[in-house]
Amino acid sequence: MEKEKPHGELLQKVLLVVALFMLALAAVCAALLITQSGDEMPQETAQGVMMIDDETIETVPTEDPTPAPTRAPCEHSWKDGVCTLCGEHCPHPRHQAESRICTDCGERVVHSFVNGQCRRCGSKPFILDDIVDAGLAGGATRCGELQKLQYSYTDSNHVAVRKDMSVYVPYGYDPQKQYPVALLIHGYGGDLGTWMELRNHFGTVNVRGIDVVDRLIEEDWIAPVLIVSIDTPNLSGMSDYNSRVAKVSEEIRYGVLPTVCARYATYATDNTSAGIARAREHFAIIGASDGALYAVESGLRDNRDLFGVFAPLSGLDIPADILTVQSGEWARQYPIRLLFMGTGQTDFNRTQVLLAYVHMLEADASLLDGQNAFHHICDSGHSFRSWFTDLANVLQLAFDG
Ligand SMILES: [Zn+2]
Ligand SMILES: [Zn+2]
Ligand SMILES: [Zn+2]
Repeated sequence: MEKEKPHGELLQKVLLVVALFMLALAAVCAALLITQSGDEMPQETAQGVMMIDDETIETVPTEDPTPAPTRAPCEHSWKDGVCTLCGEHCPHPRHQAESRICTDCGERVVHSFVNGQCRRCGSKPFILDDIVDAGLAGGATRCGELQKLQYSYTDSNHVAVRKDMSVYVPYGYDPQKQYPVALLIHGYGGDLGTWMELRNHFGTVNVRGIDVVDRLIEEDWIAPVLIVSIDTPNLSGMSDYNSRVAKVSEEIRYGVLPTVCARYATYATDNTSAGIARAREHFAIIGASDGALYAVESGLRDNRDLFGVFAPLSGLDIPADILTVQSGEWARQYPIRLLFMGTGQTDFNRTQVLLAYVHMLEADASLLDGQNAFHHICDSGHSFRSWFTDLANVLQLAFDG
């Protein structure tokens, strides 16, 4: 060891001299580039200069250094939220509460709710009581589309499962952007077309879920969102209730969400469970009636790490095992970004939903009414008139794109 020491020191010195020489050479080259390029310095050269550290520049004597060009801030000229001069996207820092018009670029933008308050205008959310009365049940001119695709996964019994799902892709979908995801679960006797494709007649209004969502996006009531519909087996009163839940929980984790994240531009950086978990605040599970049970069992309990937004609508009280989970370590690791429990004036589950809400708030101190937790009673009953209304409310509160 001792013999090697002087040799090592010599090598270190040689390397140091070589390194200093290289740095000095780089600095001289950079200085030459600056003087040659003059005022119209191309972007590439500017970036090259940035890479040389301050220490090196100090050691090289410079004669009459060309001062770095000072760029005047762009006097933005906005069109569709993008500056025509510099290409910057307006971050829409402020908008007017009523009109939702951005005070910087003049575009209408969605409210962006954090803890029950819009970070753009400071207002509280305006919760709809009836989507039909609000005039938001359909009538859009810019329409998204429903894409049918298959997903497959291997279940815990090593059986390959292949099923269909439907994905609502909003108008103007751009794969370079990122979209939040809402998974919708239908009620008893439904199928994957129930939420988005089935026509509902509310008085003179004849409307499907896709019509409602198109309109909400067109009105900037909600941000553009990918909406996934799947087919789930009936749950209420089934003797094999637990095995049905387990199957759907597995399906969501290993089939549905990985397929959606592989195919579409979501906030998840990859389509593994860990990748989705890192972006979970941009993923919602929303279920109505029988689907509310899945939102609770397969969402809150079994896939809590994959979703940040939970909306059981017109469901039942929360089972004791889920309340235990809610007050435990797993729940603290994956806090709820938004809990929304909706029901209707004449809904036969109205009391059950209120009890569920109270029990959830009692079990989890991080849930605060009116901030990240909402209980809402729509004007109608146990029907899509209530569920479309609360779909609008949940998506408005949950996502700002
Ligand atoms: Zn600009
Ligand atoms: Zn703006
Ligand atoms: Zn606002």
